[in-house]
Amino acid sequence: MAKIVAWLVLIFVVLLALRMINARKARSRTRGAAGAAPAEIPAQPMVRCTRCGVFLPRSDASPIAGGYTCADRECATR
Ligand SMILES: [Zn+2]
Repeated sequence: MAKIVAWLVLIFVVLLALRMINARKARSRTRGAAGAAPAEIPAQPMVRCTRCGVFLPRSDASPIAGGYTCADRECATR
């Protein structure tokens, strides 16, 4: 009878250990996913440069007569 109880305790301890390992893995997995997730970037309307045809966010473009142009690129100074 004592042997049966010892086996039951052993099985219980093994299952508990496996459960703790799985919980730790799941926790580190969710934390890693949250850390790897890119920061929320609000969507910006894209505009097309009328000089070179490149699409860029409107905040990076400078408005000109008849459209937009790249603010930081060579075609802005043309
Ligand atoms: Zn351009």
